Amino acid sequence: MDKNINEVIGDLKSYLEYLKGMGITSLPLSENIPEKVIRSEILTLAEVRKELGDCKRCKLHRTRRTIVFGEGNENATLMFIGEGPGYDEDVQGRPFVGKAGQLLTKIIESINLPREEVYIANIIKCRPPQNRNPEPDEIQSCNPFLMNQIRVIQPRIICALGTFSAQTLLKTDTKISALRGKLFDLEGIKVIPTYHPAFLLRNPERKREVWEDMKKIAELIKNPTLMTEL
Ligand code: URA
Repeated sequence: MDKNINEVIGDLKSYLEYLKGMGITSLPLSENIPEKVIRSEILTLAEVRKELGDCKRCKLHRTRRTIVFGEGNENATLMFIGEGPGYDEDVQGRPFVGKAGQLLTKIIESINLPREEVYIANIIKCRPPQNRNPEPDEIQSCNPFLMNQIRVIQPRIICALGTFSAQTLLKTDTKISALRGKLFDLEGIKVIPTYHPAFLLRNPERKREVWEDMKKIAELIKNPTLMTEL
């Protein structure tokens, strides 16, 4: 039998109470889910950008200067995904342009790829105040847009830079030290986590491991059949 509106509201209220009891205190708004994901149409990056608009889906819009969408080759074989914009990125509207970005450029060039040939994005597109860590609701609001960027670009390999990137993309809480250098799958795309360039600036002795990971990435690009073997 059909329920009346008061019964529906009552059911909804008890469901929300139940979620609250489990520690879930906010729900994603439907506007967080880009319509076109639902319709699974093929998008261009320009369409994904348009859909993002002047985003106010999370609280970071109040303090950001610029939305840092991402940049690079729409047909990239290799995509890098960092954590989120810092001061320089927020000012310039481009990912990885500060000190960590300069190191990332060198890392990319170390395998003989120009920076313009890859695509660079972040888990979140707006700078958190004082560069604090991204919060779960911010990651959740941004994620559909990042996933659409990935689906448009369809890179063969994603290099996840640092803890937040690796853990978000792989839906795990395993430590980056245990994830790095290993191959994972995301919608048929290989994901290799490595250390974040900002971490390397503080711990230069860990650069050797990133170099190992980059050599692995270069091998996979050169010899795609390895992807199925690994
Ligand atoms: N750190 C990141 O994770 N992303 C940037 O764009 C810059 C610094």
